[in-house]
Amino acid sequence: MGSCVKAVATAAATSYRVLIAGCSYSGLSAAVNLLEQCDKIESPVPVDIIIVDERDGFYHLIGSPLALAAREYSEKAWVEFKDIKVLQRPNVRFVQGSLGKVDPGSKTATISERGNQTPRQEKYDYFIAATGLRRVWPVVPQSLSRKLYLMEAGKHISAVTSSTAPVLVVGGGAVGIEMAAELKVTHPHVNVTLAHSRDKLLSSEPLPDSAKECAGDLVVGSGVELLLNHRLADSKIIKDEAGRDVYEVEFTNGHRMVASEVVMAISRSIPSTAFLPQEALNEEGLVNVRATMQFPDNVPNAASHFASGDVINWSGIKRCGAAMHEGKLAALNIYQLMQQQQLGKEPEFNLLAEIPPMIGLAVGKTALSCGPEGMSHGPQVMKLFFEDDLGFRICWDHLRLGGIKA
Ligand SMILES: Cc1cc2nc3c(=O)[nH]c(=O)nc-3n(C[C@H](O)[C@H](O)[C@H](O)COP(=O)(O)OP(=O)(O)OC[C@H]3O[C@@H](n4cnc5c(N)ncnc54)[C@H](O)[C@@H]3O)c2cc1C
Repeated sequence: MGSCVKAVATAAATSYRVLIAGCSYSGLSAAVNLLEQCDKIESPVPVDIIIVDERDGFYHLIGSPLALAAREYSEKAWVEFKDIKVLQRPNVRFVQGSLGKVDPGSKTATISERGNQTPRQEKYDYFIAATGLRRVWPVVPQSLSRKLYLMEAGKHISAVTSSTAPVLVVGGGAVGIEMAAELKVTHPHVNVTLAHSRDKLLSSEPLPDSAKECAGDLVVGSGVELLLNHRLADSKIIKDEAGRDVYEVEFTNGHRMVASEVVMAISRSIPSTAFLPQEALNEEGLVNVRATMQFPDNVPNAASHFASGDVINWSGIKRCGAAMHEGKLAALNIYQLMQQQQLGKEPEFNLLAEIPPMIGLAVGKTALSCGPEGMSHGPQVMKLFFEDDLGFRICWDHLRLGGIKA
């Protein structure tokens, strides 16, 4: 038997092991799309998928500003893995744990499983890194289980809604804008102030000034007090007349205010790629993928290693739509490689195009979109981009997490 025929026979006999790190938009998109390909009646491929995530399920990150303002929505925004219907099948395994190391040469990952002191090793045929960016509290809840997250979010909601003095949100990037506006719109009695160090909101985004100015108008229109050119210098806890802890805040321009809570929405996010070899990464820690979503070819077995979502070094503003699209491309290309091995078919890779700057920004009951087609804002943009649940239904159905419709 020739070596090619032997390889085909061996490949057909056992399932491919695919390890996906990250159970969020990009990792879930990769898993669902790969299963869909491998289930094809005309060319089925046996596959075993392992999904590893530090959390016990999927957290709808886009909804975070509302999840930290409205209890009912917090319940909805985190779905435990066992409740993701489409992935409840024998050939999909979920591991709650942290990926410690990936050795592309031996195709082995080291995983520290929750509740198990000893890290274990997992062999794979294909690997997808979809571990996103590490973000600090209160941009993102830090809990790893749904139960603890509900407590964490609940405590925050109590603190920001029982305030007498204004709640100060610091940082006028997309996250700060959304946090301030969601809090104001959900709890109109709360005075919310958004402070930003520059003269325009969204100042670090590659967007036209018209979009930045429009964001400012929408923030003010939502009832949030906007302080531009206000860089935080200091904040210290003092007692108010009733003996409660409040913050005395000072800005570098000399302005002072008292706030009941200070919500910092300004931290730099760090790619969660410490488990990867340095040669796969750029200086910021993002994965230097090729347009096929594969690792750069200086990494051993680069062709079997993929990355998608916020972890990749690619053009465009980091967005969940891009993360889902890239996860799908990784899945389609892995399937092409499986087909090559099984049938000797030349792979037809799907390539990721350059992504122009674009954004969809929810500002309370309205939204702003800006991209190559220009800028638009209003409730109709909110409906199109987010509906009435900050995009939960749109993402859930796009990912087909409730089940693939026949
Ligand atoms: C507050 C906020 C609002 C946003 N709003 C919008 C919006 O309106 N529209 C939009 O398009 N985008 C928005 N974004 C950006 C969007 O959320 C991201 O682009 C998207 O989450 C990227 O998806 P991802 O799957 O690549 O990574 P993530 O969603 O970050 O998921 C990564 C997953 O990997 C897991 N993980 C990380 N490291 C490890 C490890 N070592 N081991 C195991 N698991 C690990 C994490 O627990 C997480 O579940 C927003 C972001 C934030 C923070």
